[in-house]
Amino acid sequence: MTSTLPNDNIKNFDEQITNKLISEIIRDRIKSKGNRFSANDNIADFINPGELEILEKEVATRIRDLLKSLVIDVDNDHNTQETAERVSKMYLNEVFKGRYHEQPKVTSFPNDKNLDEIYTVGPITVRSACSHHLVPILGDCWIGIKPGNKVIGLSKFARVADWVFSRPHIQEEAVMILADEIEKLCQPKGLGIIVKAQHYCMKWRGVKEPNTSMINSVVRGDFRHDISLKQEFFELVKQQSSNNNY
Ligand SMILES: [Zn+2]
Repeated sequence: MTSTLPNDNIKNFDEQITNKLISEIIRDRIKSKGNRFSANDNIADFINPGELEILEKEVATRIRDLLKSLVIDVDNDHNTQETAERVSKMYLNEVFKGRYHEQPKVTSFPNDKNLDEIYTVGPITVRSACSHHLVPILGDCWIGIKPGNKVIGLSKFARVADWVFSRPHIQEEAVMILADEIEKLCQPKGLGIIVKAQHYCMKWRGVKEPNTSMINSVVRGDFRHDISLKQEFFELVKQQSSNNNY
């Protein structure tokens, strides 16, 4: 009887007979292309269909080992028996999905009417985790656009922001990466992004300062060169940040 393997499996047969862990196989692929795989990089291009499920099992094993090293009785404590599997799924498919999953599909349209007035979208809720402690960063994001030759739907900004932020980050880099992705998608003449976030690094541990937030921004293109445009952007965001429900 002949077995029918999917093409991807045949292609990676050499890799599979080496008995390497799936994380090692993926890492080797990334290295062979000379790419980075820092905490806030997306590595979806290097993960073949079906491999994320295998990686999920590997990560669960490691998390179980971590719990054991923390001297938690994972065999008998009814609260932690499935914790390793839950945390693995949560990392790979929810809170860090922006590393392992491809960018959501975003269709851009030609700017037929040559719109050139600026608009802002926000607040968009962003959720991330600090690369240093892997504890949450939760905040709001505002995006301002002066359209170029292409436009994208408003909801797409929220989808791309969610994808970019769902990785371990430091806030300054998250905002830059989001700006890069939006520039790639719609090539605006001007782009501004503001993020205001609470860092659980500071609330839950360390200095335990509950009300501190961090605000940072990036401005590019016309928003950078034209002071009045930049002011208009910040003014629009101020209106969206107040609690007016309209
Ligand atoms: Zn931290």
